[in-house]
Amino acid sequence: MGRRILFLGPPGGGKGTQAKMVRRALGVPHVSTGDMLREAMASGSDLGRRAEAYVSVGDLVPDELVVALVEERLAREDAAGGYLLDGFPRNLPQAEALAEVLGDEALDTIVYLDVDEDEIIARLLKRAQIEGRADDNEETIRHRLEVFHGETEPLIAYYGDRVRRIDGTGSVEDIYCRIALELAS
Ligand code: AMP
Repeated sequence: MGRRILFLGPPGGGKGTQAKMVRRALGVPHVSTGDMLREAMASGSDLGRRAEAYVSVGDLVPDELVVALVEERLAREDAAGGYLLDGFPRNLPQAEALAEVLGDEALDTIVYLDVDEDEIIARLLKRAQIEGRADDNEETIRHRLEVFHGETEPLIAYYGDRVRRIDGTGSVEDIYCRIALELAS
């Protein structure tokens, strides 16, 4: 069995960027609920239409929709050799649902990318200009940060000493090196 890695961190913390680099290095699929929801919205599927109202304002999509999405994704053959979760779980009920799905196959590494709030807002505003993501406007960014503090941050305590806190500031390459060192230890 390969690695089962979770990337935790605030929006704009660099999870997606780093997860893509780690995926290339380890050859395990990158399971990003944000990417999956954006794909569903772009395809106009039933799930996409339901998710849109939440994603567009920076709220969390209801747990049952996201848990079903992840459960289906992790059951696919390419995830049998490990995976990298990014953006899920996002709250305690999702973490509990994941623990139930995984059973004895617990996550082996939980990486928390630590970035301070001013830096996050600056990064997200920049991304808004470059990528034009509909949820990267200032009001939604502030709301996503509130959601992060209220719903996602408690996962740090939930996972306890299994969390490896990584300094998420500096160049993309520097951050990647810190993560690679942590994953190798
Ligand atoms: P992300 O790309 O991870 O920042 O996610 C973008 C948006 O997708 C979030 O602001 C939520 O609206 C939604 N989303 C992503 N992952 C989840 C999740 N695990 N639970 C609920 N909503 C999610």
